[in-house]
Amino acid sequence: MVPADNHVHSEWSYDTTNQASMTGACERALDVGVPAVAFTEHLDFTRWGASDPGGAAGLEPRRNTRIRPLDVPGYLAAVEECRQRFPGLRILSGVEAGEAHLFAASAGAVVGGHRFDRILGSLHAVPLRGRLVGLPAMYGMFGPDEVLRRYFAELLRLVTGSDLFQVLAHLDFPRRYWPASSGRYEEKEFEEEYRMVLRALAQSGRVLEMNTKSPMVSVQLLGWWRDEGGRAVSFGSDSHQDWRIGDRFDIAVDIAEAAGFRPGRDRFDFWRR
Ligand SMILES: [Zn+2]
Ligand SMILES: [Zn+2]
Repeated sequence: MVPADNHVHSEWSYDTTNQASMTGACERALDVGVPAVAFTEHLDFTRWGASDPGGAAGLEPRRNTRIRPLDVPGYLAAVEECRQRFPGLRILSGVEAGEAHLFAASAGAVVGGHRFDRILGSLHAVPLRGRLVGLPAMYGMFGPDEVLRRYFAELLRLVTGSDLFQVLAHLDFPRRYWPASSGRYEEKEFEEEYRMVLRALAQSGRVLEMNTKSPMVSVQLLGWWRDEGGRAVSFGSDSHQDWRIGDRFDIAVDIAEAAGFRPGRDRFDFWRR
C-alpha cells in the first residue's frame, strides 16, 4: 500500500522552479498511485512580528532574500481548484513552518486564521552569535559533529517550545549536507541527541516524518522512536519537482514495516503501531 505524500511543495513555495506545480504534482500522484498529497508550502519570515520570541531575544533574522511570504488566500484557492479537478486524489492543505518556536506569533497568526490539514515543523536555521544562520552555512563555521549537536539542541527547543505543528519534518536536516570528507554519517554518534528530540516529540503525541529527500533514516532510528514512545510516522518526499512525488517511498515503507509500523485507519492516514 502506497502511503500519502504528506510533504510537497508547489509553485506557492518561494524555493521552487517551474518544475513544480500543484496540478503537475496531482497528475504525478495519480500516475504513481500515491493516494493523497499534502501541499505543505514554506511558512518562513525574514522579519520579526511584534511578539515573536526570536525578535524579543534580539536575534537578527536569516539573510536569505529568497524567502517570500506565503500568499495564503491564493494558495488555498489553488488547492480548492485542484480538489475540483482531481476528485480521485485526496488533496490536503498545509504549511511547513520554519523555526516556529522563534516565529511563534507570526506563524501562529497565519496558522490560527485558517484550517490547514497538515502542519509540519522544521528547522532550517540555528541562532548563532546574535543571528539566525542557515544550514549548510554552519558547516563553514564548525566541525561537522558540532554542527549536528548545535542543530539537535535547537531542534529540541523547537519541539518543546512550539505546539503549532503536528509532524516534525526532516529531523536530521543537516545530514543532507554532511561533508563527504568527514566519512560516513553515523546515526549512532548522535543517539543521545536523537533520543532527546524523539522523546519530547512522542510525549506531545506528535508524528515523526520519514523524509525521502534526506538520506533515509534507518530501522534502528525508528526503533529509538518506538522506544521513546513514538506511535506514528508520516511519509514525505519534500518534493520541489513534480516527478519526485512519492519518490523512494518503496524503500521508506520497507523500513517503516521492519520497525513495526503499519498503515493507519485508512490509506490517507499516518502509519502507526
Ligand atoms: Zn524543510
Ligand atoms: Zn519541505
